[in-house]
Amino acid sequence: MNEPQPHPIDVLAELRRRLEQCEREKHDLELMLQTTIDHGDAIEEQLCEANRQLEIEIGERLRVEESLNALLRALAQQKKDLELLVKLLSEHGDELDIQWIEKLRRLEEEARHDALTGLPNRRALGEVLEREWRDAVRSDQPLSLLLCDVDHFKRYNDTLGHPAGDKCLHEVAQCLRTALLRPRDSVARYGGEEFCVILPGTDRAGAREVAEVLLTKVAALGMVHPDSPYGCVTLSIGTASCRPRAAGESPVELLARADQSLYRAKQKGRNRLHQHEDES
Ligand code: GH3
Ligand code: MG
Ligand code: MG
Repeated sequence: MNEPQPHPIDVLAELRRRLEQCEREKHDLELMLQTTIDHGDAIEEQLCEANRQLEIEIGERLRVEESLNALLRALAQQKKDLELLVKLLSEHGDELDIQWIEKLRRLEEEARHDALTGLPNRRALGEVLEREWRDAVRSDQPLSLLLCDVDHFKRYNDTLGHPAGDKCLHEVAQCLRTALLRPRDSVARYGGEEFCVILPGTDRAGAREVAEVLLTKVAALGMVHPDSPYGCVTLSIGTASCRPRAAGESPVELLARADQSLYRAKQKGRNRLHQHEDES
């Protein structure tokens, strides 16, 4: 069957409509062309800028990717190490425990001792003093402290050198340690060339006796001190004694009194002891 033919007027109208559309499109294209001609440089510049930004972004992303890969590799290695550690712990856990405990014990011991003289250091002294103080309160016993200071030690270093000074401190320390006879008597390095002796169960008279022995023994070491009026290494000692009470003087106050006594011993000419007056 034949298709019905469009009426020529309709065809003409359709053609006219398409022609108008073509003219509109031509006008738009001419407008775009003109815009491109007018702003060509600016558009090109914008495109170049966009391109540059893109390249920077790509570079950035590549770098981030590389860092992430490195992180992943490090994590994989850590995982391997941890697995090895877990395996070692499960196979040798008991031995390792003992080694660690021993290591910790050694470190703790080192932290409480002075490296030069091997004596307990000031921190350990504080702990011992607190303990002995509590004990003295409980048992109603006296407690004495001796602060011993090497005389003119700066001059000793200056004339004989610092290494000789170190050796001297070591010898003085051993001398003090071995001179103390009662098991609970103890000596610690209090500071540079100062030593503190704790004498539990010892009163003022006992403290004087011990201090005299220490003065004699250190002088008897016969360590030559070319720049001392005594010709050899000597000590000055300040003592302080008390009968500790729960609500009385504190260990810090007792130490302060021993320090005041030491100062007086120095003032009176060194190589001697001084006992604090405000005690029975
Ligand atoms: P004084 O008789 O009044 O106590 O005088 P001094 O010279 O002993 O006291 P001073 O406080 O003026 O000097 C102490 C010196 O001890 C100074 C310091 O260099 C020295 N000293 C402190 N610690 C050490 C040490 O570990 N080794 C050595 N070699 N010297 C030390
Ligand atoms: Mg001193
Ligand atoms: Mg001194």
